[in-house]
Amino acid sequence: MYAAPVQQLIDELGRLPGIGPKSAQRIAFYILKSPAEDAARLASSITAAKAKVTWCRRCFNIAEVPSAETGGSGDGAECEICRDPRRDSSVLCVVEEPRDVIAFEKTGLYRGRYHVLLGALSPLDGIGPAQLKIGELLARIEAEGVTEVILSMNPNTEGEVTALHLINLLKDRSVKLTKIATGVPVGGDLEYADELTLGRALEGRHEVR
Ligand SMILES: [Zn+2]
Repeated sequence: MYAAPVQQLIDELGRLPGIGPKSAQRIAFYILKSPAEDAARLASSITAAKAKVTWCRRCFNIAEVPSAETGGSGDGAECEICRDPRRDSSVLCVVEEPRDVIAFEKTGLYRGRYHVLLGALSPLDGIGPAQLKIGELLARIEAEGVTEVILSMNPNTEGEVTALHLINLLKDRSVKLTKIATGVPVGGDLEYADELTLGRALEGRHEVR
């Protein structure tokens, strides 16, 4: 229907999460109508983000790729939170995605560290424990002397299944296991909860074992 380059742009946009065919078309034509420098800035910001951003080797939050200028040592990137010596390394807040880290940071109430699973268990989508950073979590609890693990999954089915799996894995370890309170609307995403609600959910966390 469209010239091949236009159709290709629509197809690529349509592969993004939450973008249906109609939105993909609308964004494609918006880009085509934009000044060339605007479109170039969008394209180069995607390329730059992919080149300069990676996962933190410790917690799997977003981290900047170490470069010669930033004193990169070659053994992988660490995020700002893991590099901050003022953060309490004995408390780990386990979340699904890096955007959940941002949500907790916005509450201003949390001084511990994070562990990002990079997803939630979803057998129907082929996401099992091996696809998540669960082994890395277990290793950290030992290596970093963690005394409390706060389970902060999204309040939906996948999040609940993931939390149960972690409770089973951790129940025999000498670590305090807590879960954030259910002040967050069920079925929603943590990132959509306002700071006050999320702060209350964190402070109202309860022991699950
Ligand atoms: Zn980190």
